[in-house]
Order: sequence, then structure tokens, then C-alpha cells
Amino acid sequence: MNEQHKCSRKISKDGHSYQCSKTGKLEHEGRFYCGLHHPPTVIAKRKARDAAWTEKFDAEYKARKIAEAERLEEKRRASLFPDLLAALQRLIATDDAHATIHAEDEDDVARMLEYAAAFDNARAAIARALPQGAPE
Ligand SMILES: [Zn+2]
Repeated sequence: MNEQHKCSRKISKDGHSYQCSKTGKLEHEGRFYCGLHHPPTVIAKRKARDAAWTEKFDAEYKARKIAEAERLEEKRRASLFPDLLAALQRLIATDDAHATIHAEDEDDVARMLEYAAAFDNARAAIARALPQGAPE
């Protein structure tokens, strides 16, 4: 390596082209470059910058997708509130009747079935309103 070499990089400024004034310390394909303009170094820095940007973009994209999924799940559960409320009201209404049921009375049997249906309905409404993926 010859200390007399100047960096081979041409720099454009204000419509003029200048040669980099720094010493060419690194050789590449028969030419000498300063540490800033050495092509393999320039490429490696650009690749590292691109990789960091891609990683940041991917993390932001993932965070946005998670936030969106959480928002949709919250909306889904909120939309089930009237259904859940109605199911619980129906269950409470039939529960009073259930207390005085006599199995031999045909009307009581019908009320018992209504109570069982209301109970199943409430159970299903609660299951739908639970966070998705949560154990019931
Ligand atoms: Zn240079």
C-alpha cells in the first residue's frame, strides 16, 4: 500500500465533481479508498442499515397487528354484552319458578325445561363473551 494514494471516490457538490481528499488506506479492485468510501465497507454499512430498518419495520408491523387483534377482540366481546345480559335475565327469571317446581305437574315440567334451556343459553352466552382462547 502506498501512503501517497488518495481516495478514488469522486464527490459531486454544487454541480462539480471532486476527488475525496482523504488518504486511500484500503484497496479494492486496484483502487484505493478512505475508510468512508471503501466500496465493501459502504455496502456492508448499507446492508446493516437495511437489516436494522427491516427489523424495526417488522417489529412495528407485528405490534400493530397485535393491537388491531386486541381491538377487534374487545369490540367482539363488547358486542356480545346485550346477548349475555338477556341470557342472564332469562336465567334469573326462570330460576324463581324453578324453586317451586313439582315434577308431576305438567306446567312445572315445561318450566323445568325452560329453566334448563335458559341455563344452557346463559352458559353459551358466557362462553362466547369470554376472551378467545381462554379456558371456559
Ligand atoms: Zn474517501
